[in-house]
Amino acid sequence: MRPLLKLEDVSYSYHTISGETNALSHLSFSVYPGEFVTVVGPSGCGKSTLLSIIFGLLAPEEGKVLFSSESSPQCPSDVPKKKMRPPIGYMLQKDHLFEWRTVYQNALLGLEVAHKNTPEAREYVLSLLRDYGLYKFKDKRPCELSGGMKQRAALIRTLALNPDLLLLDEPFSALDYQTRLHVSGDICNIIKSRKKTALLITHDLSEAISLADRVIVLSKRPATVKMEMPVRLTKQDNSVLSARNAPEFKDYFNILWEAMSDEK
Ligand code: ADP
Repeated sequence: MRPLLKLEDVSYSYHTISGETNALSHLSFSVYPGEFVTVVGPSGCGKSTLLSIIFGLLAPEEGKVLFSSESSPQCPSDVPKKKMRPPIGYMLQKDHLFEWRTVYQNALLGLEVAHKNTPEAREYVLSLLRDYGLYKFKDKRPCELSGGMKQRAALIRTLALNPDLLLLDEPFSALDYQTRLHVSGDICNIIKSRKKTALLITHDLSEAISLADRVIVLSKRPATVKMEMPVRLTKQDNSVLSARNAPEFKDYFNILWEAMSDEK
């Protein structure tokens, strides 16, 4: 299968008045269509920088970020690379919902910015709100929702643009532990049921294992790929609790713990 996303030897440094910070060094990995990949690494190693590069906010200093649409034989060489990127959704730690807009109006925001607020798109957003239990709350303001519901609303706003690839930068870290368990499973199942490809950054090793098809471990800064670990859990159902109770879970946790301890 051809990867949806391929990073080849990507390096990046920040240059500021106080000096140079090497964030990424010769980083290479691939993500395949429909995969849910989690990324862990020491704090400050370059995880957010990596997502900014994949999203196109930063350009790599060295190396390449390739999408399957670019390497396709149908892609003419004179088409600008940015135009050949698949649609990408980006979800951050904070939900960034606007308080002066209702849940429905927030969910439409990306479509408005992209000039894609068509009757069909609005119908699609309503169907997402219906499918994911927010239809009753569509005329409420974000402050009237729970933390988990806000994250779901933010995901619907991202899904409204029908992205092929979702980049998730610690989207559950602002939630309390119990809510986080529920919401992470909930969001992960929504993404998988829509057959989207996802790359999720987390500092929580258990979360990384319970949600992922594969975990990528980054080294300390400048980040490079230290290890890739495919995850196969024997689960009773699709819940996070089932994943955490799987007999293989502890072994995966120990492998990650050791890999991360080396990077301290
Ligand atoms: P992580 O997400 O793994 O915590 P980041 O990608 O945010 O790490 O940052 C990697 C390194 O780059 C850190 O040392 C950070 O201080 C530095 N850094 C991040 N953004 C900037 C910036 N805009 N200017 C200068 N240095 C930055």
